[in-house]
Amino acid sequence: MRPFSYAKVKTKEQAIITLTEDKTAAFIAGGTDLLGLMKDRIQTAETLIDINSLPLNKIETSATGVRIGALCRLTEVALHPDIQKHYPVISQAINQSASPQLRNMATVGGNLLQKVRCPYFRNAAFPCNKRTPGEGCAAINGYNRMHAILGTSEHCIAVHPSDLAVALTALDAIICIQGLEKERQISIHEFYLLPGDTPHKETLLKPGELIVAVEIPNNNCSRNSNYLKVRDRAAYEFALVSVALALEIENRTIITAKIAFGGVATKPWRAWELEEFLQNKPLNQNTLNFATELAIKQAKPQQHNQFKIELLKRAILRALSE
Ligand SMILES: Cc1cc2nc3c(=O)[nH]c(=O)nc-3n(C[C@H](O)[C@H](O)[C@H](O)COP(=O)(O)OP(=O)(O)OC[C@H]3O[C@@H](n4cnc5c(N)ncnc54)[C@H](O)[C@@H]3O)c2cc1C
Repeated sequence: MRPFSYAKVKTKEQAIITLTEDKTAAFIAGGTDLLGLMKDRIQTAETLIDINSLPLNKIETSATGVRIGALCRLTEVALHPDIQKHYPVISQAINQSASPQLRNMATVGGNLLQKVRCPYFRNAAFPCNKRTPGEGCAAINGYNRMHAILGTSEHCIAVHPSDLAVALTALDAIICIQGLEKERQISIHEFYLLPGDTPHKETLLKPGELIVAVEIPNNNCSRNSNYLKVRDRAAYEFALVSVALALEIENRTIITAKIAFGGVATKPWRAWELEEFLQNKPLNQNTLNFATELAIKQAKPQQHNQFKIELLKRAILRALSE
């Protein structure tokens, strides 16, 4: 690891000004992703700005929704009784992420900004457009079993890694961001960018900006939500396919469906077309069969991940049946 300096900040303003003025600096929260990347020399920072003392660690619930501070630890969020009751998909997504030790340390803000797990991104011996724009993508003609089948481009096929972000996408979360000016809010659907020809640009976050919180509306769908994650082993593994589902059902008819996929796309993937089809449909085998075909319509598999198409269909079927 290259030497770096360390600064602990006490206010949001101090954090934002320090990062805006020092282009070689980075915020550190739990450090569970950033430090690994620094050790592997994939990411460098001359100064780490420790944001852990900022007052961003509250979970505030109301009848209309919840605001989760960016520095809340994942464990704390998953165990919160109101989250478990009104937004079960969040608790389930977190509990199936990483390991208990990592979840104790990792924060909500850091989780949403963790880097992709593409082995070619994480190994500087290979070209990667995300790491060094214009260098090429070793995954496209490489071993791409874990890679994306949705939202890919000829420049990047890396899968978005966060489970929490997939749950938040199904719940229409809002990302609250603080820069030098006042707080701004961006829908999670716009926050994450498709790789296109600029895969190094992953979000709408501007240099120096801090995620301060995530806000989630409380509604009939969020209360009836679940997260299904399919992976190579039952714990401590990233998703091959995941489905976050929030449904409003009356008399076995789907009134509203909100569905997001993980493990298969370059950003947390909202299944808008599928949702539109499911609206006001009876929850029966015909509906389910048609739904799974619709879900994979846009899928474009790579050489080694054709299996994700069938896996995604079965995961949707299981999530909807449950
Ligand atoms: C072995 C292993 C297995 C894992 N498995 C999973 C898994 O199954 N599912 C899953 O979802 N994740 C998984 N993870 C990823 C883990 O969840 C993340 O490492 C963690 O959530 C990152 O949070 P952090 O607070 O430690 O972030 P940090 O490492 O501190 O920061 C990550 C990035 O976010 C930036 N940042 C942090 N907070 C803010 C903020 N408030 N505003 C602006 N920028 C900020 C940092 O500058 C850095 O660029 C795994 C990680 C490991 C090491």
